[in-house]
Amino acid sequence: MKILLVGGGITSALTGMCLRKLLPDCNISLWDKARGAGGRMATTRCSLNPSCTADLGAQYITTTEEYMKANGDVYNHLISEGILEPLKCHVIGMRHQDNTKNFVVPNGTSFLVKNILQQAKINETKFSHHVSSIDLEDGRWIVETKTGEKDYFDVVVLTMPVPQLFLLEGSVKRSIQSLAEPLNTVTYSARYVLVLFYLENINENWGAQYIDNNPIFRYVSIDNIRRNQPENLCAVVLHSTVSFGAKHIEDSIPDMEKVLVSQAKVLFPNWPEPKAVKCHKWRYSQVTNTYPDAPGCVLVSSSAPLVIGGDAFAGSKFDNCIQSSKSICQKVVEALEVGKLFQDITDRSVKPTLDMRHSPSTKQRLAESRVVNRCLSIWQAANIHACVFLFIAHIKVNEYLCYSQYEQLLGKQHMCEDVYLLIGELVRQLDHRM
Ligand SMILES: Cc1cc2nc3c(=O)[nH]c(=O)nc-3n(C[C@H](O)[C@H](O)[C@H](O)COP(=O)(O)OP(=O)(O)OC[C@H]3O[C@@H](n4cnc5c(N)ncnc54)[C@H](O)[C@@H]3O)c2cc1C
Repeated sequence: MKILLVGGGITSALTGMCLRKLLPDCNISLWDKARGAGGRMATTRCSLNPSCTADLGAQYITTTEEYMKANGDVYNHLISEGILEPLKCHVIGMRHQDNTKNFVVPNGTSFLVKNILQQAKINETKFSHHVSSIDLEDGRWIVETKTGEKDYFDVVVLTMPVPQLFLLEGSVKRSIQSLAEPLNTVTYSARYVLVLFYLENINENWGAQYIDNNPIFRYVSIDNIRRNQPENLCAVVLHSTVSFGAKHIEDSIPDMEKVLVSQAKVLFPNWPEPKAVKCHKWRYSQVTNTYPDAPGCVLVSSSAPLVIGGDAFAGSKFDNCIQSSKSICQKVVEALEVGKLFQDITDRSVKPTLDMRHSPSTKQRLAESRVVNRCLSIWQAANIHACVFLFIAHIKVNEYLCYSQYEQLLGKQHMCEDVYLLIGELVRQLDHRM
């Protein structure tokens, strides 16, 4: 069983970890267009000294005692291994709710993603792999990158931001277009992030602050202090306001870097000159409206499972990404189980049906093919529960058919009639439910 995770962000990593537990023998590949793991949990390095790092995206893992307990499979290891540490520094303006806990990742948030990927025991990870087309061929997905590399997979999971889903070509395009209406309700904020690498200490009595009443900046963090690493080389991270990000989304990064650096100097005039600077544009930063009802993911195809997930389907927080990954795994496993069941039933049901073909009645054949076709169409429409229901019904019907064959031999024709009526009733009930 070959599974491809497209995207090297936190949702993919968590999905890999969960799938590894549920399907220990599967072969999991991960492809990402970026040069490394992290996605919007990226950590950047200073070009002058790579040991000076800064988080470009997510800053805090905010959760509750209850959520941590309920998701001990994710949290216990991260806390016992020190991947997550409680936030210690003073954050000016941070809204604190009584039951919430804030954690930071001392080594940088991309380290969190990398650690989870390690736990997932991904068989093959390929970066600089920009997936451009996904096609169905002989019941498997053929996935191709912009540079022409391709491979076959039984299961594909996509966790990129929604606008990037719409860029995919191949037969998957049609399936994604068919979901255009709900997908288009997903919206994102946009932000610029400026990193000032100082490589020397910045002494303040705070580690981070939310900035009020500034048209350009909303947040600043002395990143080594925020991550409980005061002894490390200092980098400062500044996030633009969402309105600034939206207004300048099409502007060039070098132009914006100049604007942001000069505004940082106005805000913090006593700080020294940074040794190096990095400016990053998050076109899709945080989800402001999720997919309707935030289902965690959507099963786009079930015959060859293809699932779309990520924060768009749950919300832009680590805990939401856990929720998304768990629902992705559930959908994948369900679809695979139904696939197996379907195979099983077809294998088992063919035999009694063939045995009966020496005296096939048109009515009987029609009833059989209606059930099988109905199963296939429900399966393709991704209504797994209804499909399982009908499969089980189908088994029962087949048992009746075998039994009725004997009844028939014994001359009790009425049993067969009952079976046809039962099949008809099942199909009618199912139509009614859907
Ligand atoms: C500035 C900022 C601050 C944030 N602050 C917080 C915070 O404090 N706390 C918090 O919990 N969350 C925060 N978030 C949100 C959090 O980072 C996201 O919700 C989370 O990282 C989303 O993870 P994901 O795996 O769903 O998506 P992503 O991290 O976006 O991963 C998707 C991956 O898909 C890849 N990809 C896209 N298209 C393709 C393609 N065609 N082929 C191959 N690969 C592709 C991308 O390169 C990317 O790596 C913040 C985000 C930002 C940007």
